Amino acid sequence: MAAQIIDGKAVSAKVKEEVRQEIEREGLEVGLAVVIVGDDPASRVYVNNKKKACEVCGIKSYEYALPAETTEEELLELVDTLNADEKVNGILVQLPLPKHLNEEKVIERISPMKDVDAFHAANVGKIMIGNYAFLPCTPAGCMELIHSAGIDVSGKECVVIGRSNIVGKPMAMLLLHENGTVTVCHSRTKDLKEVCRRADILVAAVGRAGFVTADMVKDGAVVIDVGINRNADGKLCGDVAYDEVAEKASFITPVPGGVGPMTIAMLMKNTVMAKRIQSK
Ligand code: NDP
Repeated sequence: MAAQIIDGKAVSAKVKEEVRQEIEREGLEVGLAVVIVGDDPASRVYVNNKKKACEVCGIKSYEYALPAETTEEELLELVDTLNADEKVNGILVQLPLPKHLNEEKVIERISPMKDVDAFHAANVGKIMIGNYAFLPCTPAGCMELIHSAGIDVSGKECVVIGRSNIVGKPMAMLLLHENGTVTVCHSRTKDLKEVCRRADILVAAVGRAGFVTADMVKDGAVVIDVGINRNADGKLCGDVAYDEVAEKASFITPVPGGVGPMTIAMLMKNTVMAKRIQSK
């Protein structure tokens, strides 16, 4: 039987509408600063989408588009200014940064209270101990999709392919917080296929088009595809060989229209949360 599609567009629209209503109901003034350095076309698309989502939600967005040759000192100075600016509740520095800029140093400079991506070590630590204000947007979006399909994670075998700080590791932690039995796979994992075939919930965050094939998926598994890739025809696609896996899974997220829109919706949620924390 073909899998049910988890519609990330619909779920993200619902999340954004809830954020919009919350802002309107309480008359909140919420601001998000988006910093982009250089002219990476993919980053430009992401930044534009984030600005559009701000408009939908009633969040004021402030864009800082800096030239590729911006020095680390200049960027850190801007972060300091934004940290001190009361109109700015959330600061997002679009990654990747040009090679000469130290991403870790820049992220660490953002005030943890304004770190709406939840990349700062202080926020990552809070996620580890389960006492957090912000969740990283992509894994949080995946969890929202899982919940929207009425899936209870507790006791399930969960396999995450990928161990990046941005997606794989926090994803594993969120599944663990919901009492999943979690395995994290990476490029050195032996018998990846066998490990994946154990999964009731399989999350792919690899960055390779069509990497997860049907023979890696258990019948009836829930498959969450985080990947954003271009196939040979230049078409946007995920890490999952969608057509064949959809024949086997119980639920599946498409690309586009799955995890991607959720990431942005969760960013909006975090920005309102940041406002609340700063107002305390
Ligand atoms: P990274 O490149 O940082 O991490 C990729 C992970 O995949 C690594 O842990 C790597 O293992 C693992 N991997 C690579 N090859 C294999 C293999 N053959 N077998 C098993 N594991 C392998 O990527 P990100 O986590 O940043 O992103 C992953 C994907 O998600 C990308 O396509 C990215 O574009 C997308 N993405 C989508 C977002 C969204 O909003 N939908 C947001 C963020 C990312 P190792 O650690 O051993 O190298």
